[in-house]
Amino acid sequence: MALRKLIAGNWKMHGQSSDLEEIAAIAAASRQFENVDIALCVPAILIERASRAVPDLAIGGQDVHHAEKGAHTGCISADMLLDAGAALTIVGHSERRDAQRESDAEVKAKAEAALRCGLSAILCVGESLALREQGAAVSTVLAQLDGSLPDRPASDAELAVAYEPVWAIGTGKIPTTAEIGEMHAAIRECLLSRYGDQGQSVRILYGGSVKASNAAEIFTVPDVDGALVGGASLRAADFLPIVAAAAAAQPRAA
Ligand code: PEP
Repeated sequence: MALRKLIAGNWKMHGQSSDLEEIAAIAAASRQFENVDIALCVPAILIERASRAVPDLAIGGQDVHHAEKGAHTGCISADMLLDAGAALTIVGHSERRDAQRESDAEVKAKAEAALRCGLSAILCVGESLALREQGAAVSTVLAQLDGSLPDRPASDAELAVAYEPVWAIGTGKIPTTAEIGEMHAAIRECLLSRYGDQGQSVRILYGGSVKASNAAEIFTVPDVDGALVGGASLRAADFLPIVAAAAAAQPRAA
């Protein structure tokens, strides 16, 4: 089976009702790329309107609470995201691991809560610059996976892993293709040892300063099954060339 590439945008804390037109523009242009899965993870307040406005584009959240309901002021459950029209959610983004001090165990609980409800999850991992410079990039990411991967991969919903080196996010710096390849191969090994053959079909995305100018090269790296895109996902003009590069890349047999 050939695995389609997944290009997911992470709008972070950008986007109000006036940006629904941009989402509609992305959805309209996306229809020409039939061999790529495309998703936009927008601020929670836009999920319902975006998913109504563009029902054929997968709309996602950027975080989810692990509990089904309860006294968790300001939090949103997986069922609530689904009810609002989301098809997926990001979990464990480095900005949350850092600012909200999210542990691997919490990220695992969030991923499991999402998958249990039928919401796909993009689980983020990635090392800091200091750890890469110490030669500890791969061991750091493997330890994060060890603590945050769900016990079982998804059945109805999909688990994907996003490798996002923290030092590459929003900085314009990216690892070499050899460094990306080394990390994605290590992540694949980990997925296979955790899930057996099912680990082959877990998509591994690269994230961190992906742009029109570097996407095609990144997609030549083995085991890069797509991208998680921050800044360049905010405008159709920046995002769609990345989708086009994914559409032109070789799919991986899984
Ligand atoms: C991100 O925040 O997930 C991300 C990859 O951001 P950027 O593409 O802007 O580096």
